[in-house]
Amino acid sequence: MKSSAPTLRFMGAAGTVTGSRFLLTCDNTRTLFDCGLFQGLKELRLRNWDPFPVEPGAIDRVVLTHAHLDHSGYLPALCRDGYRGKIVATAATHSLCGILLPDSGHLQEEEAEYANRKGYSKHAPARPLYTEKDGLDALEHFAPVAHESAVEGPGGVRVNFRYAGHILGSASLLVECEGRQRRRLLFSGDLGRPLHPILRPPSPAPEADVIVVESTYGDRRHDDEASLNLFGETIARAAERGGVIVIPSFAVDRTEVVLFHLRRLIRGGRVPPIPVYVDSPMALATLQVYQREIASGCPEIRAGITPDDLDPGDLREIRSVDESIALNFEQGPMIIISASGMATGGRVLHHLAARLGDERNAVILVGYQAEGTRGRRLLEGEPTIKMLGRYIAVRAQIVNVAGFSVHSDQPETLAWLKTAPRAPEVCYVVHGDPAAARALRDAIARELRWNAVVPRHLEQVRID
Ligand SMILES: [Zn+2]
Repeated sequence: MKSSAPTLRFMGAAGTVTGSRFLLTCDNTRTLFDCGLFQGLKELRLRNWDPFPVEPGAIDRVVLTHAHLDHSGYLPALCRDGYRGKIVATAATHSLCGILLPDSGHLQEEEAEYANRKGYSKHAPARPLYTEKDGLDALEHFAPVAHESAVEGPGGVRVNFRYAGHILGSASLLVECEGRQRRRLLFSGDLGRPLHPILRPPSPAPEADVIVVESTYGDRRHDDEASLNLFGETIARAAERGGVIVIPSFAVDRTEVVLFHLRRLIRGGRVPPIPVYVDSPMALATLQVYQREIASGCPEIRAGITPDDLDPGDLREIRSVDESIALNFEQGPMIIISASGMATGGRVLHHLAARLGDERNAVILVGYQAEGTRGRRLLEGEPTIKMLGRYIAVRAQIVNVAGFSVHSDQPETLAWLKTAPRAPEVCYVVHGDPAAARALRDAIARELRWNAVVPRHLEQVRID
């Protein structure tokens, strides 16, 4: 069969932050880059229930940039619905997906069960998007690879995994496809920060004909020193008041970054040595993966980092639900780190419900808060927040420490793009709220003089 022109289709993270899914069709084969969940606003979450835009059984290969659920979280449904191929990802991404995907299924089963019990589901009976077993089954498809190695897939599509410095295992992908002519595409994936305290910085951008770059913080500039000061001062003051500091944290990477900074602040005398509870079995499992990789001298880890760097001193691990609930009766000062990072679910909800009403306490937001999430509403200063079926008055201090983000800001993203040996023919700006994506597109056009575009959801473009 004569092959048609190679195309790239933006099946998610186009005009929004979540749901990364990019389909490359080349030489009659289909390679899907990332297979994420839509999160945040309800209209976005509803997309998770739409039929996948291509028949899962017609996809030849899936390649992942990293383990975060907005990049990997649809895989259990894809595999259940007929995908038969491999899922190619770095070994650490495989390990982290081993924690995240079954847990995601488990949470969805719990939520469906809760909705049925409380009778608030619109569809009766409520059903999970997928189950814990679907999450476990998806893991069978994984084919782990090393960073800086190239893998050849169906249709002669070669993928090279480059360091992205975002979370453990994260990669930017250099993709070569042969079609009628050789074309090179570069997916930034989620691009980390040159100054990630634990991970080595992103590899420079290689030469590519087409670049797809993320824009989560495409309209921001992080101020690390100010962020660290704000973080330290907020904790020190709340501790002085005898308060409890709740840190909603993404289980993967953010918990490690928070622990790293806490250790330095406590050892430097800027924060008193108070108990630090990590209340999330998933965050604790992830911490073990990080500790293991650090101890084994993994090349993705920054030189000189030791497992002790993630130990703030009085670290207390909370695993069971009973222990977690018992924390509600503990007096401050203490720090509770718990998931989920945008307060959309998980144990952090009952900690927030218990602590938001007391002005001695503080809530520190350390990551991106998507539109439509409770984290975003807290950040925007709403006086009451609904959680667990009731309205809670917000009297605790709410602080946003954006600089702890593990996404590059606008100057860092531009600096990374500038490392490319030549301009691409086109640079697609994805994975950002509309304003952030437009701001990065304009900055790329203005400062690099590149052809930059924010693609539309489900748009398909030729790449020949
Ligand atoms: Zn990510």
